[in-house]
Amino acid sequence: MLTPRQKAILQGQVRGQASLIYRWPEGNDGYPLVPYQFIDGVDEASVTAGIQHWESKTCIKFEQRQGTTGPHIKFEVLSGCWSHIGYLGWDADHVNGQTVSIGSGCSSLGVVAHEIGHAIGLFHMQSSPTRDDFVLVLYDNILDGKSSNFDKKTVQQTNYHGVPYDYTSNMHYSSFCLLRKWIGLSHRDALLVNRMYSCIQKWLSNCSLTVDPYRTMATSGHRVRVCVHGVHLHSL
Ligand SMILES: [Zn+2]
Repeated sequence: MLTPRQKAILQGQVRGQASLIYRWPEGNDGYPLVPYQFIDGVDEASVTAGIQHWESKTCIKFEQRQGTTGPHIKFEVLSGCWSHIGYLGWDADHVNGQTVSIGSGCSSLGVVAHEIGHAIGLFHMQSSPTRDDFVLVLYDNILDGKSSNFDKKTVQQTNYHGVPYDYTSNMHYSSFCLLRKWIGLSHRDALLVNRMYSCIQKWLSNCSLTVDPYRTMATSGHRVRVCVHGVHLHSL
């Protein structure tokens, strides 16, 4: 059951705040916290690698729970690779967990990181309201039933926090869109999420850094790391 305000937000009537309810809340230490659990049969090693990938480049923390209730991600094996977009713990249907499906063929690092990206709150890059300035979508070439993957979001639904369009995003389909060759987060993916969650300053000071290595708009930089939570700084 949605409150009138949540309905208004979902309908895009509250400009600029649309994304706030979709963000994972902070844990006790002030960092955004994503609790999760594995449901029987999911490829735990692959999911763990995807989680560590996100933790190495952003200030979001993940915490495994056993048999938890309350808002969390349930990594499970359903049909295909998919996730909802962002935190849904305020929604009655998801208050006790929201699924990320890591089905057959979904276990590569790029795909797992992509689905976690959705769960954190990222749309597909090619859904950006400005995408027509950057890519040409040939709807005639899209397989039946797949065109919603190419829907554009409205300006009200999105906030790119000043981060430019990114062809190298792990959330961007390639021109061979169904052959997903995602290799992991781009420089701008990390920058966007760190800005979206406003946690980068706290994280940097925790790592004894004064400057965000992701501050530039470089389109490369997959190997840049800041530091892992609670671990000594290292920068490649
Ligand atoms: Zn996707």
